[in-house]
Amino acid sequence: MNLLNVVCKTCGAAEESAVHILLRCNFAKRTWELVSKWTKIPMVNMDGTLNDLLKEISEVRRIKGVRKAMNAVEIQTMWALWKIRNDKVFNGRQGKVQTVLEEIKEASYQDVKLRSRNGSITKREWWDFNINLSFCF
Ligand SMILES: [Zn+2]
Repeated sequence: MNLLNVVCKTCGAAEESAVHILLRCNFAKRTWELVSKWTKIPMVNMDGTLNDLLKEISEVRRIKGVRKAMNAVEIQTMWALWKIRNDKVFNGRQGKVQTVLEEIKEASYQDVKLRSRNGSITKREWWDFNINLSFCF
């Protein structure tokens, strides 16, 4: 096996692993930072393990609406990071954090809209994360 193949294709600085791609990679960190800024909610602990992250997703959010919304955001963030990684590996394309954030917003919006009680969240509200979550779900 060629050892070069296990180096992260995004930063080239570390061994590629799930936890690296989704949490530790600089690209992932910058993405989570933007997501955190957008939602104004402190996000995952980047020094933790994937297990911590999944636990956080299922337990920490106590308010149902917030939990559901953040769940969608976090799942979509991980999904986007994984897609970015594949795009780099298979197409040699280097994604931009800002573009990833837009994708995350769009995908999580579709998610949340589907699951909200009356589909009442507008795109504008979601983009600004200016929503009464306990009312929406
Ligand atoms: Zn990396």
